[in-house]
Amino acid sequence: MKPRIALIAHDKKKDDMIALAAEYVDFLRGCTLSATGTTGGRLINELGLTVTRMHSGPVGGDLQIGAQLVNGEVDCVIFLRDPMTPQPHEPDINALVRACDVHNIPCATNVASAHLVLSQLQSKAD
Ligand code: PGA
Repeated sequence: MKPRIALIAHDKKKDDMIALAAEYVDFLRGCTLSATGTTGGRLINELGLTVTRMHSGPVGGDLQIGAQLVNGEVDCVIFLRDPMTPQPHEPDINALVRACDVHNIPCATNVASAHLVLSQLQSKAD
């Protein structure tokens, strides 16, 4: 089955997400991708990826990704969080990370860990 990957980036991390996804773009084309609204829009427009877009994070997109995950529809989450900026939807962010832990789903919250997760998934797909 294609890897099912959820992608989320806070505003100051969106450029990092695009650069990261660009490095893995051929692999990601073969994955089933979902993303929060603005992150997903950039992945579609700038990299031509096919992405199921949820609502934007601050209005519930993280919770939608969490619901997908709880339903067994996500294999891995790349969640580039901004640790330096308070977020209005902090409870939703915590809920999503907690859901990853409850369901034992890998959750990379920074670029270094995202590289480890994506390179591992990519090598399994080769
Ligand atoms: P966004 O949501 O991709 O819609 O910006 C991410 C977030 O800020 O939680």
